[in-house]
Amino acid sequence: MTSENEALEKKLGFWGIDRIVREDNKIYAEDYYCFKCYRESKKVRAEVFWPNIDLDITPVPYCKPCKDELAIKIILG
Ligand SMILES: [Zn+2]
Repeated sequence: MTSENEALEKKLGFWGIDRIVREDNKIYAEDYYCFKCYRESKKVRAEVFWPNIDLDITPVPYCKPCKDELAIKIILG
């Protein structure tokens, strides 16, 4: 493991456990691990909140591949 990975591990939060709010009072997906990857025991930095439109689901931070996978599942029903 590189020192860069170790730094990331300390820096990022777990969605639903940690609450990281930046100085501008906003919450950024990049401050968290991907929710889906984390449940699969992988630590991947999240990139986006999804869904970002109101589907009666609370947006959760995901990495791009997971978000795309979920979006395709929704489209295919
Ligand atoms: Zn992911």
